[in-house]
Amino acid sequence: MDKELNTVNRNVFDKLIHDEIIFKNRESLSTSYVPSEFPHRFNEINEVANILKTAFYGSRPSNILIYGQTGTGKTAISKFICKQLKDKARNENVKIHTAYINCKQTNTPYGVLTNIGKTYSAEWDKQIPNAGWRIDKVYSSLKEKADENGGIAIVILDEIDTLVSKNGDEILYHLTGLNSDLDNSKISIIGISNDAKFTSWLDPRVKSRLGEESLTFPPYNAPQIEDILLQRAKLAFKENTVDPLVMTYCASRAAQEHGDARKAIDLLRIAAELAEREKREIVTLEHVNKAQNVMERDQVRSIIITLPIQHKATLASIILNQGNRIQNQQTTGEVYSTYTKLCNSYKIDKLTQRRIGHIIAELDMQGLINAKVVNLGRHGRTKYIDLAVDKNQLLNIIKNDHFLSDLIDSMNKKQIFSKSLQSRLV
Ligand code: ADP
Ligand code: MG
Repeated sequence: MDKELNTVNRNVFDKLIHDEIIFKNRESLSTSYVPSEFPHRFNEINEVANILKTAFYGSRPSNILIYGQTGTGKTAISKFICKQLKDKARNENVKIHTAYINCKQTNTPYGVLTNIGKTYSAEWDKQIPNAGWRIDKVYSSLKEKADENGGIAIVILDEIDTLVSKNGDEILYHLTGLNSDLDNSKISIIGISNDAKFTSWLDPRVKSRLGEESLTFPPYNAPQIEDILLQRAKLAFKENTVDPLVMTYCASRAAQEHGDARKAIDLLRIAAELAEREKREIVTLEHVNKAQNVMERDQVRSIIITLPIQHKATLASIILNQGNRIQNQQTTGEVYSTYTKLCNSYKIDKLTQRRIGHIIAELDMQGLINAKVVNLGRHGRTKYIDLAVDKNQLLNIIKNDHFLSDLIDSMNKKQIFSKSLQSRLV
């Protein structure tokens, strides 16, 4: 009886938390963690800081465009610079306001203006409703607030391309033109994008105003990523709990994938997580390999689940065909023939073979299938198509996708494909 009481009183997490063997501080491996130092970005940080320093003398810094592929440190470094600006401004008693806006999350002109307004005044939220005002009213209210407050606002628009692709470039036209309307304050924009071509969609005036200065964060190479990992590992793990080869290996994997530091950190975190769960004392290459499988599986799952209906139908056709044959390769014509049966049986709008050809090319690009063009001599050319993902893994994912599993069920009823595949799906 006493014993039972004891178990009731104990928190279920007590033992779990204190039993950690490897982790010292998980937080330092999380995606939102902003380190205090950035190995191999000294020049880039300096360059941005040099442009922004004029704010401390009371002049408006040039607008800046920052480019760089995923995982090159754009977001973390811009947040870091934001904080440094704020700290320095506080110490020097200079009025500098900073706003960091992720345009994937805040993707309307209204939201962007509201977020800038908040940097001037905590009261802004109360004065301006979250929606409902005409945008020009929000804009003039922002102008008023800025002038009333004075000072210089540095506004970081991360993933700025999504703002433009969703709303057009009018908002940027207004924001970059805001200075000429302001009497007692100034605003600078730092735009960040993965897509170096995004300015080609912009009105030339917006393009030249926004890109007064621009810089590119190059991808990291393997030794650079290894340095970044070593820095994080020191914070995250207890001493001597990670085989040093693990860092080298994670770094080289990530360097192969466009020098993405985030990939490397994720890989390290998941590997350590797996080792911790197995109650091992040391993270080894074996854990990294397992972690890689986990990451790939998750990625494939999210790609498949979010495919549009016609893409799913095409993929289902390829899977069904593959269930029927010993040899793996199938032609576009064969995919189309199964797709046609599938459409008839499931009442899906049937696209032309040409369109399905395009969808096949997209599935290829997403890494779900391999499609290679072969020359059939006088019979012209065709594609040989093959699954790029392990079929068992695919079938497991499909089981959890209503649409795809219904599709395959409907084919099941018609017994169009082989018994072996049917049995594996039930
Ligand atoms: P991006 O915004 O360019 O896609 P992030 O800024 O999100 O990339 O960086 C991805 C991850 O890598 C983050 O966890 C970030 O802290 C880390 N990171 C990137 N560059 C460095 C660096 N030079 N030093 C330390 N950590 C870095
Ligand atoms: Mg980013």
